[in-house]
Amino acid sequence: MTHPENSKSVEKRGRLFVISAPSGTGKTTLCDALRNTFPELCYSISYTTRQPRKGEADGRDYHFISVEEFKEGIALGRWAEWAEVHGNFYATSAFVLEETLGSGRDLLLEIDVQGMRQIVGCFPEAVTIFILPPSMNILRERLMKRGTDAAEMIERRMADAIREIARKDAYRYRIVNDDFERAKDALIFLVDACRKGEDPETTDYI
Ligand code: 5GP
Repeated sequence: MTHPENSKSVEKRGRLFVISAPSGTGKTTLCDALRNTFPELCYSISYTTRQPRKGEADGRDYHFISVEEFKEGIALGRWAEWAEVHGNFYATSAFVLEETLGSGRDLLLEIDVQGMRQIVGCFPEAVTIFILPPSMNILRERLMKRGTDAAEMIERRMADAIREIARKDAYRYRIVNDDFERAKDALIFLVDACRKGEDPETTDYI
């Protein structure tokens, strides 16, 4: 992957936003609201070896690929970052990342903590935001209500959530999704401010 400093084609590069949250935190709904507010904000569609859930479409929610294709992608250097999450592989396309930022457009990545660390290693200026559930009990309830995962998978996601939340301080900003409207306003405020080149001092929105 080309380091930002090495790209000569465009003077102003886009800003990179990384959002992470344990499953069931409402991240996708919050990010949808963000994308409606800023339609010009680009979104990187991740590659995954996970099976599509009901209602998910290939090329819209994810690019669903085989483990073989994924591993080939690693060998060919196709991924800006990749990680194994809940027993499946996920990755961000290095091409999409370079192409979008290089053409001066801002880009949103919805990736996990492992991916965030890799991205920040290459793009230290990336704005990182972690979304938290109000409590672990509420998170479990939300996962169960969602009805998309078997009981065993819910337990796995809960265990992963505990591990992820333990790393929340590695992010520049944290938002608790207790009241959706408040969480949405905080996210929009942060992204708007950072896109204007500001660096809000308040880091925790609870
Ligand atoms: P889900 O399977 O519920 O859509 O996502 C599971 C986890 O994988 C979430 O934490 C999500 O943020 C993460 N994830 C989705 N895409 C990527 C990606 O491209 N890279 C990494 N590292 N994590 C991802």
